[in-house]
Amino acid sequence: MTPNKFYCDLFGHNYQITKKVTNHVKEYTCKCCKKQLTTNSNGKLTELTAKYQEINSALERIYNNKSMRLKQKTLSSSIC
Ligand SMILES: [Zn+2]
Repeated sequence: MTPNKFYCDLFGHNYQITKKVTNHVKEYTCKCCKKQLTTNSNGKLTELTAKYQEINSALERIYNNKSMRLKQKTLSSSIC
């Protein structure tokens, strides 16, 4: 057991947002032990496994595409 892990077991994890996937889904990393969490489809926090990393990167792609299209729309309408 590493000292950092011991600290987390005693005092709880110290999570920080490391990535904003969408407005509702974020990834968190514990500053002490580097444990990673993410928001799942139920809006609850769950461990960031390889499967969730895959889901999140797919979500991020869709989300970025959408917001890009939205930006282009507002841009063209403001030109008119
Ligand atoms: Zn921790």
